[in-house]
Amino acid sequence: MTDATQPPRPRPSALRVPICGERTSLPHHLAAAALAFAPAGTAEVADVEQHLRCTLQHHSTGDHYALVMDVGSTGSGAVWANWIRGHQPSAVVVLLDCDVTSLAPGREPCCEFAGHPGAHSFDITDPFGISGR
Ligand SMILES: [Zn+2]
Ligand SMILES: [Zn+2]
Repeated sequence: MTDATQPPRPRPSALRVPICGERTSLPHHLAAAALAFAPAGTAEVADVEQHLRCTLQHHSTGDHYALVMDVGSTGSGAVWANWIRGHQPSAVVVLLDCDVTSLAPGREPCCEFAGHPGAHSFDITDPFGISGR
């Protein structure tokens, strides 16, 4: 008897992929637009991230995405900006959180948005050391 089907091997935790890290800045009118997504009185300009950095897995096609601001309680999503390389964002949108968590140990939640391309945040190497939120 030969065993042709092998169980999938657990991924070594050292196998991580590089972060995109593309940078842009948030136009002032979009900072105001981001604030409008938060319940009245729960956010101020200081809560809006204006120096944006794409946190997706390194990619050569598709838009860049960066978290702009959390909205309310956990589970209600967050405000994200997306942009094309060399441009500033043209809009901000509320996207639900990715609900995937890493396998043991740690059960680290993914910090990207639901349906994001590329690897989950816990599998992405961020040389700038900004992790989680
Ligand atoms: Zn990117
Ligand atoms: Zn994810």
